[in-house]
Amino acid sequence: FFLTFEGLDGSGKSTQLRRLAQWLEARGESVVVTRQPGGTRIGDGIRALLLDSRTESISPMAELGFMFSDRAQSIAEVIRPALDAGKIVLCDRYTDSTEAYQGGGRQLGSELVRNLHQVMCGGLDPDLTLLLLPDFARSLERARRRNGRVAAREGKDEGRFEQENEIFYRRVFDQYGEIARREPLRVVAIESDEGIESIHQHIVHIVEERLAR
Ligand code: C5P
Repeated sequence: FFLTFEGLDGSGKSTQLRRLAQWLEARGESVVVTRQPGGTRIGDGIRALLLDSRTESISPMAELGFMFSDRAQSIAEVIRPALDAGKIVLCDRYTDSTEAYQGGGRQLGSELVRNLHQVMCGGLDPDLTLLLLPDFARSLERARRRNGRVAAREGKDEGRFEQENEIFYRRVFDQYGEIARREPLRVVAIESDEGIESIHQHIVHIVEERLAR
């Protein structure tokens, strides 16, 4: 069973993923937790490269290529072997992130991302995707707080930085909404403005039902 978590930076997806992994393990399930970009030696290298402020000027197309290189490696090294062994794979971000950030945010378009997904991922789709969607204003606030700290550390003009971010994050947010509308069976959108515990209970309810099918 292949389950992915999606959402904007600061949506709480990583926290919820950890909570769900603990819950599944307590039930005696065999669980593999990974993330993209990252989760393999090659992926960690790609992640470090992309998050390094010195590569801020990377072209959107080059960034897209790195995302799929990371994903191809993650599938070959982690996801496929785990699924073949009958394990439950929980992945923090997958192709929907690329469609939202590079397709929507960086405006490369969904079609290109979805075509590359077919080629680079052999069409491997999650059985279930949990999309955490806090209210946009709140997510933006959290993303800003995080990125503001980075800007302050690096002496950037925070005002301009934030403005660009708002437009960018709006496109990412809208693209996630589009994906959820297009694939209602795979993608479950969760309005995550309640507390961590109540969102966790909501997720457990959804996952229990899916695993029982
Ligand atoms: O969620 P995570 O911490 O793994 O994301 C790391 C950073 O990479 C975030 O700032 C996220 O916005 C960015 N990212 C991206 N494009 C993706 C995936 C993540 O810009 N496809």
